[in-house]
Amino acid sequence: MVIGNWIDGREVTTSDVFAKVLPTDETVRYDVARSREADVDHAIAAAVAAQPAWAALPPVQRGALLYAVADKLQANAKQLAAIVAKETGKAPKEAAGEVGGAIALARFYAGEGQRLYGRTTTSGVDNRQILHVRQPIGVAGLIIAANTPIANVAWKVFPALICGNAAVLKASEDAPETALTVAKLATEAGLPNVFNVVHGFGREAGEALTSDPRVGVISFTGSTAVGRRIAVIAGERLARVSLELGGKNPLIVCDDADLDNAVKWSVLSAFSNAGQRCAAASRLIVMQGVYDEFRRRLLEKIALLRVGPTDEHDFGPVINRRQLDNMIAAINSARDRGARVSCGGERLVDDEYRRGCYLGPTVLEDVAPDDPLSTSELFGPITCMYRVPTFERALALANLSPYGLTACVHTASIHRAMQFTRTIRAGMAVVNAGTYGSEPHLPFGGYGHSGNGSREPGTEALDVYSELKTVSLNFDPSAT
Ligand code: NAD
Repeated sequence: MVIGNWIDGREVTTSDVFAKVLPTDETVRYDVARSREADVDHAIAAAVAAQPAWAALPPVQRGALLYAVADKLQANAKQLAAIVAKETGKAPKEAAGEVGGAIALARFYAGEGQRLYGRTTTSGVDNRQILHVRQPIGVAGLIIAANTPIANVAWKVFPALICGNAAVLKASEDAPETALTVAKLATEAGLPNVFNVVHGFGREAGEALTSDPRVGVISFTGSTAVGRRIAVIAGERLARVSLELGGKNPLIVCDDADLDNAVKWSVLSAFSNAGQRCAAASRLIVMQGVYDEFRRRLLEKIALLRVGPTDEHDFGPVINRRQLDNMIAAINSARDRGARVSCGGERLVDDEYRRGCYLGPTVLEDVAPDDPLSTSELFGPITCMYRVPTFERALALANLSPYGLTACVHTASIHRAMQFTRTIRAGMAVVNAGTYGSEPHLPFGGYGHSGNGSREPGTEALDVYSELKTVSLNFDPSAT
């Protein structure tokens, strides 16, 4: 089986391929098109050709087509969830939840076809009326990660399309079948050929897309290191860039918190989806007065977690061997610098895990705030605990990070909650729950190394994917 590119409404296979390895047992399940410059060029040319007719459709009609795509995804939800579960190793019910999220995104942006609002405003000049209208940019280049693969596709493709752009999506090399299947279903639902997918490696396919002058906007979800490179390449030609990058998200536990609730959300935020969330809680900052009791309850709850790929399990494998090896190396070098591994820290090697990329839930203590483990993202089921004497120190430590994606505080004090939401440098500030939880209508994005200031999804994503044109109507020119 070969997973091909999806260009101009049909699958295009190549003999140049790479292997997709499943994280649950490291078997090679299929080959995937390894796109090079010529393949990406083909996809961009198709997008350029199809875009004007799509842009000419009234946005309400574009929305009607996106509703049809949403219905098609809904009708095939089981098949899609099975593909997501297979490619990522996550539990089927979790995969089904993500498919539901992708469909909700499709419906949200379909509705935006009826609301592509601009503004009508006044002018200082007599007899002049000013309008702001949204116009498509042209071709959108979309590059995504594999952690929630179908939601990542939907998060970018649907806002790009409703704004009248054609899309070229560079799928994650770890989740190619998910992206291909969504594009195929969209075409079957009647979407014109404005949704193209190319597979391949970042340096080859991703950079070819980023550097092409026909691509007016690049939207990227992935690591900060790659985001920086994309910003340089796209910046050179002054293309618009939206970067949704990594996080090192703090969860503060105050001495007045409901500790059971704090433990519940710490475990979910640090370990669900195997910690492969940009919004994972990788820093648990706990006030001195409750540190020991919180730690006891946390480790007790972690000991009950079951790791594996079924609905009976709490989380699955990490996405590939390279990521797993990087995580274990980072834990070991932190250990060499004096960190204490309070649980986990090792690859799981019992019979049921031996062939997969499984890491036990890992908690580290005695990690210095400026240690690389405290300042760089690992994107796995790993979190660090920090003991702080006061709430003010907790806030200061939470903000001591190059990232600023999400943050959470557990407290019974409205004063502390408000102080936290006002002071924390993060795109999302949560009180008494987890560090994650985006929704289709909410803007998401981060400060600092977590992004470049853009926000997707929500109506804010419409600003990423459209040009704003100011129209000046002078209705009595002789009097203007
Ligand atoms: P990654 O940066 O390695 O890869 C992401 C995508 O970029 C892949 O499709 C890859 O092929 C492509 N790519 C790699 N090098 C490239 C290059 N030079 N030019 C163009 N494209 C290139 O990230 P990953 O390990 O796949 O994903 C995990 C990262 O994604 C984490 O840092 C996580 O925090 C981040 N993430 C962020 C959000 C968010 O909304 N902020 C959401 C999910 C994941």
